[in-house]
Amino acid sequence: MEFIAKALPATKRVALVAHDNRKNAMIQWCLRHHNLLKRHQLLATGTTGGKIEDATGLSVEKLLSGPLGGDQQLGARISEGQVDLLIFFWDPFEPMPHDPDVKALLRIAAAWNIPVACNQSSADMVVQSPLMDQSFEHEVPDYHSYLAGR
Ligand code: PGA
Repeated sequence: MEFIAKALPATKRVALVAHDNRKNAMIQWCLRHHNLLKRHQLLATGTTGGKIEDATGLSVEKLLSGPLGGDQQLGARISEGQVDLLIFFWDPFEPMPHDPDVKALLRIAAAWNIPVACNQSSADMVVQSPLMDQSFEHEVPDYHSYLAGR
């Protein structure tokens, strides 16, 4: 695989996903970082997004609920270069009916090399990085050379 440099924008499209046992932690996290998050564009799986909006007043684009395809929708957005950061509070203590979708979401986020935080402390560190409010160059697969080689 060959890679090319691409800039993540200063105003980031931040995807938020929390499994049921982690939704309260996600809401608390959003409240703590409210001032920062309101400067960025937020999208989320359906239930997570609705709960964040209700509890924080932040504006969130809501995709389908995760078990009904929301994780896959997010994966598609990442592949299309429309997500700049994934905050994913997955539950390490419960199996999920949509575990394959969860794995696929994490795989595609790694494939397209977007920053990912899978727990609260990682999320705290990521959003407090100076890069959060700056354009940030990262490497992504070179799709044209990939296609030309097939
Ligand atoms: P939800 O989906 O926000 O609709 O609960 C999250 C998930 O379980 O993937």
